[in-house]
Amino acid sequence: MEKWLEIAQEHDKKDTIQKYRQEFYIGENIYYMDGNSLGLMSRRAEQSALDVLNDWKTLAIEGWTNGERPWFYMSEDIGESMASLINVDRETVLTTNSTTTNIHQTVRTLYQPTESRNKILVDELNFPSDIYAVQAVLDDYGYSDSMLKAKSRDSHTLKTEDIMDLMDESVALILLPAVLYRSGQILDMQKLTKAAHEKGIIIGFDLCHSIGAIPHHLEEWDMDFAVWCTYKHLNGGPGSVAGLYVHPRHHHLGVSLKGWFGNNKESQFDMNHEFDAAADISQYQIGTPHILSMAPLLGSLSLFNEAGMDEIRKKSLNLTDFMLEIFDAEFKDYDIEVVTPRNHDERGGHILIGHKHAAGINAALKAKGVIPDFRAPSYVRIAPVALYNTFEDVYHTMKILKEIMETKEYEDFDNKRGVVA
Ligand SMILES: *Cc1c(COP(=O)(O)O)cnc(C)c1O
Repeated sequence: MEKWLEIAQEHDKKDTIQKYRQEFYIGENIYYMDGNSLGLMSRRAEQSALDVLNDWKTLAIEGWTNGERPWFYMSEDIGESMASLINVDRETVLTTNSTTTNIHQTVRTLYQPTESRNKILVDELNFPSDIYAVQAVLDDYGYSDSMLKAKSRDSHTLKTEDIMDLMDESVALILLPAVLYRSGQILDMQKLTKAAHEKGIIIGFDLCHSIGAIPHHLEEWDMDFAVWCTYKHLNGGPGSVAGLYVHPRHHHLGVSLKGWFGNNKESQFDMNHEFDAAADISQYQIGTPHILSMAPLLGSLSLFNEAGMDEIRKKSLNLTDFMLEIFDAEFKDYDIEVVTPRNHDERGGHILIGHKHAAGINAALKAKGVIPDFRAPSYVRIAPVALYNTFEDVYHTMKILKEIMETKEYEDFDNKRGVVA
C-alpha cells in the first residue's frame, strides 16, 4: 500500500487547481468523501452569507432594491452565474425553489397530454422524490397509470438503447437523471435528447449529481428543461436554493404553479389580480425567494467560474482513476466490487462500492475519519471532489478501507443505516 502514497504526492504536485483546497473548511484528519451529498463550506460562501445578513441588518426593507446585492434580482443574478456551468443563455436559467418543487413546476408546465400521447417516461433507478413528483402530476392530470419506467439490466446502470426503445408516439415527456445517484453512471444526454425529439417528445434531466462535477452543454444538446440542487457538488450549504433551466422555445407556455414572483417585475407591485407572466425564465419562480439560503451561492459559484468546469472535470476523473487503480491492485482478496462504470464518458464524480456489510463498512470508515455515505441495501458512495480533495486524501481513504476489509472491523458495527444515510 505504501507505494501509492508517493504516487499520490506526485499527482498532487501536478494538480493545477490545488490552490482552491485552502478556500474550504476541512476538518483536521478528516477525509471528506461526501461532497456529492453535502459539499463543504468555502470561505467565499461563508463571506457572501455574512454579507447578505449584514445587508438585512443595515438596510432592512431597502435590501430588496439597494445595496450591492439587491434581493429582488438575486434569483436571476445567481442563475446567471450558473449559466456557464451548463452553457446556456442567462435568460433561461434561474435559482429558485427546491429540486422537487422545480420538478413539479417544469413537468406540470411542459406535460401536455392528449388521449393518445400521455405517458411520462422515467427510469426505475431514479431518486424517489423525482418519481413522487412525476406521479403526482400524472394523478392531477387524470393519467395515473401513464408512468413508464425504463428498466436496468444489472440493477445499477441503464442502457441508452433500452431507454430509446421505449420512446414512441404514446410518450409525452421524459425525465431522467444526468448522473445516477447510486452507481454514478452518466447518461448520454445528447443522444437521448436527439432520439426523444425525433419522436416529438419533450425531454429533461435532473442534474443533481452532475452539476459542478461534469461540464454540460444544454443549449447545444437542445435539452427542453433541467433541474438541479446546489448543496451537493456546488457547495451552497444545507437546503440551498435549487436551479432550473427551460429552453426559450417553451417560455410562451403559461407556467403551471403561479405566484407573484413569477410575475413581470415591472408590474409585480401593481398588485393586480391578473397574473402578468415574466417573459423569460423568471416566470418559473413562485413566492418570495429564500434569500438567506441563496446567499452562500454568490461566493461558492465564483470558485467554479474561476477554476472552470473543464479543469474540474479533468481532476475529478484523475481522482477516480487513481482510486480505481488502487482498488484493482489492492482489493482482490475481498468480496467487494466497484459498480460505477469504468469508461470516462459514463463515469460521474463518485464511485459506488458494493459489499454485503456495506453499512458496517461505512460506519467503520467514519470512525476512522473517512466520510463517505451509505446507500441501501449494500453500497458505499465515495466522492473525491476536485475543488477540495487531494490525491493523498484518496490514498488515505483506500488505505483505511483496506485495513477495514483486512481486519473485518465492519463486523463490530451494526449493518444498518442511520436515519440520514
Ligand atoms: C439530491 C436529489 C434530489 C433532492 O431534491 P430536493 O428537493 O433538493 O430535496 C432530488 N433528485 C435527485 C436525483 C437528487 O439526487
